[in-house]
Amino acid sequence: MGNSVRKGKVVIANESQVKSLHLNKAATRDPDLRKPEIRPYKVGDKEESEWGKNNGKSSVETKIQQYISSSEVVIFSKTMCENCSKVKDHFDELDIPYFAVELDLLNNGQSLEKELYIYTMETALPNVFVKEKLIEDYTDIVQLSKDGLFQKLLESKDDKPRENTYEYDLIVIGGGSGGLAASKEAAKYGKKVLVLDYVTPSPLGTTWGLGGTCVNVGCIPKKLMHQAALLGQALKDSIKYGWQIEDNVQHNWDIMTESIQNYIGSLNWNYRVSLMENKVKYENGYGEFVEPHKIKSTNKKGKVKFYTAERFLIATGERPRYLGIPGDKEYCITSDDLFSLPYCPGKTLVIGASYVALECAGFLAGLGLDVTVMVRSILLRGFDQQLAEKIGEHMEEHGVKFLKHFVPTKIEQIEAGTPGKLKVTSQSTDGTKITEEYNTVLLAIGRDACTRTIGLHIPGVKINEKTGKIPVNDEEQTNVPHIYAIGDVLEGKLELTPVAIQAGRFLARRLYGNSTVKCDYINVPTTVFTPLEYGACGLSEENAILKYGEENIEVYHSYFWPLEWTVPARDNNKCYAKVICNIKDNEKVVGFHVLAPNAGEITQGFAAAIKCGLTKEQMDSTIGIHPVCAEIFTTLSVTKRSGGSIMQAGC
Ligand code: FAD
Ligand code: NAP
Repeated sequence: MGNSVRKGKVVIANESQVKSLHLNKAATRDPDLRKPEIRPYKVGDKEESEWGKNNGKSSVETKIQQYISSSEVVIFSKTMCENCSKVKDHFDELDIPYFAVELDLLNNGQSLEKELYIYTMETALPNVFVKEKLIEDYTDIVQLSKDGLFQKLLESKDDKPRENTYEYDLIVIGGGSGGLAASKEAAKYGKKVLVLDYVTPSPLGTTWGLGGTCVNVGCIPKKLMHQAALLGQALKDSIKYGWQIEDNVQHNWDIMTESIQNYIGSLNWNYRVSLMENKVKYENGYGEFVEPHKIKSTNKKGKVKFYTAERFLIATGERPRYLGIPGDKEYCITSDDLFSLPYCPGKTLVIGASYVALECAGFLAGLGLDVTVMVRSILLRGFDQQLAEKIGEHMEEHGVKFLKHFVPTKIEQIEAGTPGKLKVTSQSTDGTKITEEYNTVLLAIGRDACTRTIGLHIPGVKINEKTGKIPVNDEEQTNVPHIYAIGDVLEGKLELTPVAIQAGRFLARRLYGNSTVKCDYINVPTTVFTPLEYGACGLSEENAILKYGEENIEVYHSYFWPLEWTVPARDNNKCYAKVICNIKDNEKVVGFHVLAPNAGEITQGFAAAIKCGLTKEQMDSTIGIHPVCAEIFTTLSVTKRSGGSIMQAGC
C-alpha cells in the first residue's frame, strides 16, 4: 500500500481480520438502519457502466476500486483536511477500524482525486466507503456514528440494498422556483433531499445557472429591463421637473445586460449557498426516470449517476415554443436568449400577444427601439379584454406597432451580424401576404412543459398527450402515488413563480410536517409588466358574466391620473380601475383590475383583502391614502351599467 496510505487505529489489511465484525443479519432489517441511507457503490457496476463505456477502465479507476474493496471502511482523505480528521477521529472513538487513503501523500493523489470526483460527484473530502457503499457526506457520517449505526452496518452480512431502502427521502427534478422551495422545506424536516437542475441550452446556445426560469430568463431580468425602460420615461418627465438633461440621451444595451447578468450571477450563487445551508444536495445533472424509484442523472460531460428515492417531485418547468416554420430555430431568439443578448437587438418583431410578448415589446420600445408586435388573434388571452385593449392602445401611443391577425410563415437571413438582418414573410387571416425586414425576431408564442424526455412512462406518470402538462390532484400528487408535480408543468394551473413556490412549500409541509394545508389556486393575483402595468386578481368581466350572469354583477370603474404624471402632462385618464362585485353575495369583490404605475404593488394588498372576502361596502368604508393611485378604489362610485362619466377631474 505504500507509505502514503495512512492506517487507522486498527489497521485492516485483509478480510479475515474483520470477521469479528460480521455479526447478525437481523440488524439489517432494523428500520433505523435505513437512515441515513447509503448508496451501493462499486466501480464497474452495471449502473456506472454508462460513463465508463466512453473511456474504458483506466488504471486509476482500477486503483480506486482496489482501495474501496480493500477494507470494510475506507476513507479517502487529506492530511490537512479538517472534516477528514474529524471523521477519522470519530472512527477512532468508536473503535471502528478503517483504511485511510491520504490523497495528498500519494504520488498519483491528484489523478485519484479527480477520478474519485467523477465516481462520487462529491466535491468535498472525505469520501467514506463502508462495505463498498458511499456514505454521502460528513453530516451523515456524524449522524451514523451518533446513532451507533456504523456498528450495525458492519455487523450486516447482507451487502445488497434492501427493497424499499432508498438513498433519498425526496428527489426533486428541476431547481427552479418550485423545486428549490420544496427541497429546502423538506430538508427543514430533517429529510434527505437531492435536487437535480440542468439547463438544456437554447437552440442559439444560451444557458444559465441555478434557479430556473424566474431568476435567469423570466421575472427578474424582465422586471429589471422594464425598470430600465421606465427610467427612460422618467428622464423625459424630469425635464418638466427642472432637470436639465442633454437632448440626445442614449441607452446602452451592453451596460444594462451586464449589470443585470451580474446581479443574476449573484442570485445563482446565493441559491447554491442556501441549498448547502439547508443541507440539500444539489447536482447539476439532467434527471430522467429509469425505474419507478430510480433516476439517472447525466451531467454536462455526459457522465451518468443513478439515485433512488422514496418520493419524487417533478418541477421541470417549461421552455419557449418554436413556430415550426423555415428559419425559426436558426434565426429567431426567444426570452431564453433576450436577457443576455450580447448586442442591442435593433428593429425587432415580437411574435405573440400574451404576457411575454407584450412585456418584452414594451420594454424594448421603452429603450428606444423600433418594435412591432405580430398578433394572431387577441391581446392577453384569458385576461379582462377591456384592460387588454387599453394596454394595446397605450403601447401604440408610445410607439409600438401592431400587426393584427397575422402569422409568420418564413424567416430568412439577409445579412449575418450582431444584429443581422432578417426577412419575415407573414400571412393575414384573410390571406394577405407581407414581407418586412427586421434586425431581430423574438418568438413569444407560449411555452412547452419539460415532461416528454424525463422517462415519465417508466413509473407510468400520465401526462396530457397534447400539451405535455401533468394532471395532479389537489395535493399535487400525480396518478403515481410516490410522484408529485408542481409549478409550470401542472395542467390547468397558473404559471407564476409565487404559485410554484407556495405549492412546493405546502407540499413539503404536508409530506413531512403533518400539515394539511393545500395550495389555494383561486384568486391568485398577477401583474403584467407592460409600460402601463396591469394588476389583476379574481375574475375578468367576461368570466364573471359567464359565472354569475350579467344581471348579477355590478362593475364599478373609473379612469384616473397619477399626480406624478400631471406635471409632465402625459397620459391623462389612461390609468383605469375596475372592480367586479357579485350582487347576490353582498357585493363581494370577485374581480379586481388596475392599470397604473406600480400596479403590482397595489394589487398585492387588495389580493389579501379579497382572500378575506372583501365587499364593495368595506372598500367604500376604507379611508384612502392621499395622494396615491390606489386611493381610487376607496371612492369608486360609477357603475358600468349607469353609463356615467368616469373621467377624473382632479383630486
Ligand atoms: P422553472 O423555474 O422553469 O424551473 C425548472 C427547472 O428545471 C429549470 O432550471 C430547468 O432547466 C430544470 N429542468 C428541466 N428539466 C430538467 C431535468 N430533466 N433535469 C434537471 N433539471 C431540469 N412569473 C411571475 O410570477 N412573475 C413574472 O413577472 C414572471 N415573468 C416571466 C417572464 C418570462 C419571460 C417568463 C418566461 C416567465 C415569467 N414568469 C413570471 C413565470 C415564472 O418564471 C414561472 O412560472 C416559474 O419560473 C415556474 O417555476 P417552476 O419551478 O415550475 O419552473
Ligand atoms: P401564452 O400565455 O401561452 O401566450 C402565447 C401567445 O402566443 C398568445 O398570444 C398566442 O396567441 C400566441 N401564439 C401561439 N401560437 C402562435 C403562433 N403559432 N403564431 C402566432 N402567435 C401564436 O404564453 P407566454 O406569453 O409565453 O406566457 C407563458 C406563461 O408565463 C403565462 O401563462 C404566464 O403565467 C407566465 N408569465 C407570467 C408573467 C407575469 O407574471 N408578469 C410574465 C410572463 C409570463 P392566441 O391568443 O391566438 O393563442
